[in-house]
Amino acid sequence: MPERIGVFGGTFDPPHVGHLVTAVNVRYDLALDRVHLVVANQPWQKEGSRLISPAAARLSAVRAAVAGVAGLEACDLEIVRGGPSYTADTLATLGGLHPGAELFVILGSDAAAGITSWERYHEVAERATIVAVDRPGAQAAAPVPGFRWVRLEVPRLEVSSTDLRARLRDGRPVDYLITTPVLDEVRRLGLYAVPE
Ligand code: NAP
Repeated sequence: MPERIGVFGGTFDPPHVGHLVTAVNVRYDLALDRVHLVVANQPWQKEGSRLISPAAARLSAVRAAVAGVAGLEACDLEIVRGGPSYTADTLATLGGLHPGAELFVILGSDAAAGITSWERYHEVAERATIVAVDRPGAQAAAPVPGFRWVRLEVPRLEVSSTDLRARLRDGRPVDYLITTPVLDEVRRLGLYAVPE
């Protein structure tokens, strides 16, 4: 049987329970062997909009998030490659590392709706199946022609990295929105202490 690998990319600034609930549910629903949480080195479409935490710090937080969770792995491929992060390149590298594996790119509905703005998105369509994750009650992303497309529903958790950064800056509670190991790592690294 070919390996079935989920590729869940993100800025993860910081990673939160919404990301983790998505990753474990997609892994279960699609019987994936594992899900890589791929930390974007330079999320080029977000650059200039705000200060983005260093990639190494975000990777460290993702490692803390997935430690001990079966089937979830932190992936540093885009950081090792350096420069702007293009999913097409990441899929090519993963395909080389895991010959014959079936790749599934996991995306929230907002990210899925923007897929044709991605660099060389046709290559993404050739190399992977898109898993568009719908949160109940939210607008589902319509399948984009030319892509193999699966829609899945996961529990809706109204958590966002934007809100978490604001909470951490203001000293408001983040308990149960991010895991304790992630919070420990955020504090150790001194992230989100200053205004963006
Ligand atoms: P992000 O903000 O860190 O989010 C990561 C993923 O988690 C997104 O799919 C997001 O979906 C989802 N998510 C956020 N909050 C959630 C919640 N509460 N519950 C469940 N899921 C939640 O990452 P991003 O910066 O948008 O990047 C997403 C991926 O797209 C990355 O791999 C990035 O490299 C890739 N991308 C690639 C290109 C390219 O040129 N190849 C261009 C842009 C992005 P929503 O978007 O729906 O919130």
